[in-house]
This record gives sequence, structure tokens and C-alpha cells, in this order.
Amino acid sequence: MPVFTAPDFDNHEQVVFGSDAETGLRCIVAIHNTALGPALGGCRMRDYATEDDALTDALRLSRGMTYKAAIAGIPYGGGKAVILGDPAVVKTPRLLRAFGRFIDSLGGRYITAEDVGTTVGDMDIVRQKTAYARGISDGSGNPSPATAYGVYMAIRAAVQYGMGRTDLSGIRIAVQGLGNVGYALCRFLNEEGARLFVADIRPETVNRAVDEFGAEAVPPDQILGLEVDVFSPCALGAVINDFTIGMLKAGIIAGGANNQLAEPRHGEELNRRRILYAPDYVANAGGVIDVASEGPGYSQEKVLHRVEAIGQTMKEIFIRAEAEKLPTSTVADRMAEDIIHKAGAETIAA
Ligand code: NAD
Repeated sequence: MPVFTAPDFDNHEQVVFGSDAETGLRCIVAIHNTALGPALGGCRMRDYATEDDALTDALRLSRGMTYKAAIAGIPYGGGKAVILGDPAVVKTPRLLRAFGRFIDSLGGRYITAEDVGTTVGDMDIVRQKTAYARGISDGSGNPSPATAYGVYMAIRAAVQYGMGRTDLSGIRIAVQGLGNVGYALCRFLNEEGARLFVADIRPETVNRAVDEFGAEAVPPDQILGLEVDVFSPCALGAVINDFTIGMLKAGIIAGGANNQLAEPRHGEELNRRRILYAPDYVANAGGVIDVASEGPGYSQEKVLHRVEAIGQTMKEIFIRAEAEKLPTSTVADRMAEDIIHKAGAETIAA
């Protein structure tokens, strides 16, 4: 499996493979960039079809974390861990402790937290073996509510910029994925009077949203092409791709999923189609802001206040994108890169 020539290798500082025969642990930690501080990013656990898929995920997600932390203004770099295997089948406390020992061996260059396939309870176990685990129950806990709040701020900013509306009352929003982030997001949107359309592959969570928020249930294969104001991807990555881009009817895309654009050129294509795209790693930074704030004096109220700044950052991106006639995704990347390069130059100069 090539690493340095892998399509998603982006001068990552370090890529480490870990295994433990006794517990069956197989994991990859990708540390993308530590110019701003130690690499922070969740641990994803998934039954990857191939080891290449797992490596690709680690490389892509860790790079995204570098950009996310930079633009969120937190003193951390970007990293990500992936554990190979179906969490429902292979995840055991022993495996998680082995993972904790492995993370500890990196000496704090990478700090882990929960992600898809891992939970607060899992991080409590990992923490038994390393101080470099966050999002624990005695700390900041589940980062999803903060993530959802940030996505809500991003949607408000996009609706204000793109539609000239200062509130969401009656705004039609299609939410794809009603998991930790999507469901909490629906609660915020519903409280502000948005009209919700929801899809998930788990019918029970859809039924709950229909009952609780008066949402309209939509089959998963139809949510993306719905005639709405906002499409909010909160499930999978790469939802904006060659196949789907022509189906979009929403004027705004703003959601919590990571890596929504299959390739950077899809950001350019959205711009050409005059669809206002809220760059994913800006919109969904609430969780990492939450996790980064863990420690003495942690307060969720303070975190949510900080997360509100996502709306202002998003507005700056929209304004600059329009002024420079660039896709919002490009502008966000350039803003993040400026911050990272400046920090890198200061580190070298020191
Ligand atoms: P989750 O696993 O709790 O929720 C994902 C939901 O999407 C599930 O309910 C699942 O059934 C549904 N889903 C899967 N395939 C679908 C499909 N084809 N159509 C419709 N629904 C589908 O995950 P989450 O924590 O809510 O995260 C959602 C996304 O947000 C992920 O991409 C994640 O990487 C990203 N994200 C999450 C956080 C966080 O704090 N949880 C932070 C940043 C980014």
C-alpha cells in the first residue's frame, strides 16, 4: 500500500500504523500538520472494504482537521485515527485500551476523540491508557451538540447572505442524515420555524423527527434533489459529486458532514451553478472547538458562545468569494492556509 504516492497524501508529517495481535486492533493515525499545535481529531471506526480505503480516510480527514482547526482559531493541528473493523463486532474494552496505549506511544503529537463509530464511553476507556484522549464523560463529553450548533450558525449566515433573510421561519431545509449532528440540528432549525424535510436510512429516527418537529419524511434517494432552499448534508462524505451535482435544486448547501465535495472542482462547479456552499470544515468546527476547550474551567456555555463565531467567519468567506469571484471552498482553503503557513514560518524562525 503506497503512502507517499497515495492520491490523498498531502505532505502529512507522520502516518503511523498500529496493531495488537491479542485484541485484533488494526489502526492508522495520520498527523497532517502540527504548525499550530498538536494534531487533534477524532477516531473513526469502520469496517473498511480495503486497507487502502482506511488509509484514504485517515489522510483526507486529517488534512481536513488541519484546515478546520486553523479557521476555527484553535491552537491545534490536524490529525485523525481510523480503527479498521465493524464497531458492532470487534470493538471491545480491551481493543480500546490497546488503542489508548498506541496513542500514548505517540507522546502527545496526536490527541484523539470520538468520531463516527466511537462514543464518549469508548473515549473514557481509551483515556485509561493515555492522557491524549478528549471528549470524555468527565470533560466535554459528546461534541455533536456543539457541532450541530455551528452548522445552525452556518445555515443562518448562508440564508442571510444568499436570501436576505435574518430568520429561518418558513425556510425549507432538507436534512440528510439524522444522527448525532443531524437530529440536534433539526431541533435548532425547528425552534426557529424552519420547514424540515428529513431522510435517514434508519426509519425509526425519521419517524421521531416527524413526530417531534413536524418534519416531512423523504426517501433517502430523493433528499438531495428536493425543491428546497437549503440542502444540509449530515450523513456521508462526497455527496456532491459528478453524479449528484446536476440533481441539486437548493440554492444553499450547508451541513455537518465532512468532505462533502468529492473533489475540489465540485466547489468550482457549485459556484458556476450559483449555489451558495458553506464550506464543510468551517460549518462543522463546533465539535473540535468543544473538544479543544476540554480541561479545567470547561463550560459548555462558553463553548457555544465561541461556536457562534462560525456565522461571522462564514459571512467573511461569502463576501470574499463574491468580491474575488472565487468558489467559497477555495476562499476557505486560502484563509486556512494563510493561518497555517504563518504559524509554520514562525515555528521555523523560532
Ligand atoms: P452519525 O453516525 O450519528 O449519523 C449519521 C446518520 O446518517 C445516521 O443516522 C445514518 O443512519 C445516516 N445515514 C447514513 N447513510 C445515509 C444515507 N445514505 N442517507 C441518509 N442518511 C444516512 O454521525 P454524526 O456524528 O451525526 O456525524 C454526521 C456527519 O458529520 C459525519 O460525516 C461526520 O464525520 C460529520 N461530523 C460530525 C461531528 C460530530 O461532532 N459528531 C463533527 C464534525 C463532523
